[in-house]
Amino acid sequence: MFSSMQFLNRVDPAIAALIKKEEARQRRTLMMIPSENYSSRAVQEALATGLTNKYSEGYAGARYYQGNRYIDAIESRCVERAKRLFHVPHVNVQPYSGSPANSAVYFALLSPGDTIMGLSLASGGHLTHGVPKLTFSGQYFHSVQYEVGSDGWIDYNALEKQIKKTRPRLIVAGTTHYPRRLDFRRFAELADQVGANLLADVSHVVGLIIAGVYPDPVPYADVITTTTHKTLRGPRAAMIMVTNKGLKRDPQLNEKIDRAVFPGLQGGPHNNTIAALAVALKEAGQPGFIRYGKQIVKNAARLAERLHQHGYQLVSGGTDTHVLVIDLRPQALLGNTVAEGLEAAGIVTNRNKVPFDPNPAFYPSGVRLGTPALTSRGMQEKQMEIIADAIDQVIRSLHQAKASLELTLNDERKKTNRANLIRRAGRELKQVNAVVTALCRRFPVVKEY
Ligand SMILES: *Cc1c(COP(=O)(O)O)cnc(C)c1O
Repeated sequence: MFSSMQFLNRVDPAIAALIKKEEARQRRTLMMIPSENYSSRAVQEALATGLTNKYSEGYAGARYYQGNRYIDAIESRCVERAKRLFHVPHVNVQPYSGSPANSAVYFALLSPGDTIMGLSLASGGHLTHGVPKLTFSGQYFHSVQYEVGSDGWIDYNALEKQIKKTRPRLIVAGTTHYPRRLDFRRFAELADQVGANLLADVSHVVGLIIAGVYPDPVPYADVITTTTHKTLRGPRAAMIMVTNKGLKRDPQLNEKIDRAVFPGLQGGPHNNTIAALAVALKEAGQPGFIRYGKQIVKNAARLAERLHQHGYQLVSGGTDTHVLVIDLRPQALLGNTVAEGLEAAGIVTNRNKVPFDPNPAFYPSGVRLGTPALTSRGMQEKQMEIIADAIDQVIRSLHQAKASLELTLNDERKKTNRANLIRRAGRELKQVNAVVTALCRRFPVVKEY
């Protein structure tokens, strides 16, 4: 894709070859995992620099190591760009990724055993939003989780009751596959009623917020976290933003957040990543990015509409964001089978739980689709129709193959059975792959934004 790898080819041809293969895979398949995207060549160039050699524990102007003159300038510029783009008074750009960013917020604002409240995994939350047992956030805090209603939408009246009853110290408003907008104003009203902090985790939708097609949490949340490698198209990292509202509630909030990141949880910042983030923030400040964010949502809407016409059941009935989830229970197929079948046809997605999923997380009943990366390639509504038709053809052929093999849902949990099933659908999947290949040729991976 982007790498010349002149030296790597010579020093470590095995790794170089695998990198080239992965980049080729990204070029010739449809990247429909909604948390993935194509970063620009400029972002990737910043990543692959000597900045990775430098230690700079601390913050600009207050480092524990000498030699940080240029690193300070880079990090300061990154912070300034983020503050300007999001209209917030304070940003920490050092978190290594989204999960450590959320941990840092909890570390800053909570004590072990405090009650935290996040959207459940099945309803569209993230692991770090308090998923019990499995995660740090669920083990060190008393976690209560809220769910979407049976229609797949968040029911704010039910949420209000739950908040009043459980009185959390921190409420997380953030999603990974909830296809609808969050009402941050309502979240803030409910949080204020019990004196809870409101954390908006906008990792998935940050690019849509910049484009003005998703609600802006800045007036409502105390703290905002976001990854930078999803709709923002930057390097793998995260930011923590403190809002004026948060500062009003706690004038010490900036320092608390900064201390939680370093020295609380992390050591030296990844300076190459911070430079790449500065580049991505510059790119996201261009007018083209607003068109991009708007097109992501238009594309998802068209994809949903066409899938709906083909008879698919979508969680919440559709989408008004970048993401949608097909509920495969009417097709009696596991998410595993459909995700693997789609991959065989060149469409890369991920299996996903649906709300109230009767099946376990490893064998869920849904598949999650997103449009951010397709939109980065320049695809528009017309292509979404072609892709929806292709997805329909794959699912139909898997359904037929399953019937002809007389497999049950339980049989489908076995990898060898799924492989058989996908082999049986082979001819149709190959036909679909030809369509995918043609689309990928016509919409090459872009290197500049
Ligand atoms: C992706 C994501 C995270 C975690 O980010 P990582 O970089 O994978 O650690 C956290 N919260 C939400 C809402 C996300 O979508």
